[in-house]
Amino acid sequence: MQRMAGRQILIVEDERPIREMIAYGLRRAGFDVREAEDCRTARTEIANRAPDLLVLDWMLPDMSGLELARQLKRDKDTRELPIILLTARAEESDKVAGLDAGADDYLTKPFSPRELVARIHAVLRRSEPAGGEERIEFEGLVLDRGSHRVTAGDRTVSLGPTEFRMLEFFMTHPERVYSRDQLLDRIWGGNVYVDERTIDVHIRRLRKALEEHGCDRLVQTVRGAGYRFSALAH
Ligand code: CA
Repeated sequence: MQRMAGRQILIVEDERPIREMIAYGLRRAGFDVREAEDCRTARTEIANRAPDLLVLDWMLPDMSGLELARQLKRDKDTRELPIILLTARAEESDKVAGLDAGADDYLTKPFSPRELVARIHAVLRRSEPAGGEERIEFEGLVLDRGSHRVTAGDRTVSLGPTEFRMLEFFMTHPERVYSRDQLLDRIWGGNVYVDERTIDVHIRRLRKALEEHGCDRLVQTVRGAGYRFSALAH
């Protein structure tokens, strides 16, 4: 976990006691922390120096965190910035909305600083290259673990950290059907709580990213079973 130290986290939360509590916990965990109280300040902070991860509250005075997440994911400069969304709402539909907006994880208030640190580690780990072969090729797609980039021909495929991990798993395990449960286990690891619908959200995002390069057909839904990464027709 040592290499996580010194990573820069930007906290966007208008409620000062909560923001300070989070900042304190993250600094204690070795992170380099910056704070913003609204979306406008957050955007300025991000433009000045991109953090490694954003802890973003849903309810903010000038614009919702959800909308900021959407904007950041639409912009090619910030598309790959990992986001953990905080919210007081616990409804399932909101959770999916948050993930659809581009958040990589979701935490419902109240939570302990320890839990947030664990989530941050998990998200940052997903955005790190795994061991093994440096370059993986599949049907014209090239995934480079060293530079953490995916290319199709000479064009870069823009992926968030979770979609990168997902594609990395698929490219190293093609032509086999995996259930949602197996994918959760292999991509997220056993200890993080994510429900199966989360998989569908990330599959949708991965397909969308691949679609721009004509490669979305590789991610196949196998009815009643799960997903398969394959160059062959369904
Ligand atoms: Ca708030």
